[in-house]
Amino acid sequence: MHVVLVGPPGAGKGTQAQLIAARLQIPHVSTGDIFRENVSEMTELGRQAKIFMKAGDLVPDAITVAMVRDRLAKPDAHGGFILDGFPRTLVQAEQLQQTLAELDENLDVVLEMRTDEEELIRRLSGRRTCQGCGRIWHVHYDPTSVDSQCDECGFSLAQRDDDRPETIRRRMQVYREQTEPLVEFYAARGLLAVIDAVGTVDEVTLRAVQALKEALST
Ligand code: ADP
Ligand code: AMP
Repeated sequence: MHVVLVGPPGAGKGTQAQLIAARLQIPHVSTGDIFRENVSEMTELGRQAKIFMKAGDLVPDAITVAMVRDRLAKPDAHGGFILDGFPRTLVQAEQLQQTLAELDENLDVVLEMRTDEEELIRRLSGRRTCQGCGRIWHVHYDPTSVDSQCDECGFSLAQRDDDRPETIRRRMQVYREQTEPLVEFYAARGLLAVIDAVGTVDEVTLRAVQALKEALST
């Protein structure tokens, strides 16, 4: 199954993508994660991406599209994938259609996750990510049993650099201006499914799985 998750920062895309990818046995492709890995490994790609990420801006399309094209061409993505955080612009969406056509693949569904802005800010300000396995936690909504230590792998947790209040505001604005138009783009192609992303993680997973089933049966 070929799935795209769309939603503002903090909607729960990464959280749901990790769960759905494990359930469907397909790779979770998060462009944010790939950029962060490159930043921490100090690669040339990381060096280029870092300035934009720190400011809460998008990394330029040419860099992002080339990176995703390489990732989707890997053998593990041939049976399907869940894309989290890509596409984020109309140019990226068009390029994705082209990449998939070249690979003889199609998108099955684009899942839009809707939440209100206050909830997004609560989620982003308490988000913590495991430095070892990448599991996403939250200080109040999904806390670890030992403070700042991942229950799954024991590594320590970190707060993302871009989860600071000024950067959060910028990322919300970037979402509204550059990414929200994708909702129309995919609705016009009959690929959009919308879910309410407010509720517990389990409730949202149930809604997401239901929407994926419906998309496959139509
Ligand atoms: P995104 O990938 O869309 O930016 P994340 O999946 O990283 O969002 O989630 C942002 C924060 O909100 C994380 O700390 C996560 O633990 C928390 N979170 C995710 N889904 C929910 C939910 N349904 N209810 C409460 N908190 C959630
Ligand atoms: P995320 O982990 O999805 O919240 O992404 C973190 C940051 O990585 C974003 O704020 C952007 O700077 C960058 N990024 C991730 N995905 C993309 C994308 N598709 N296009 C451009 N920049 C991206």
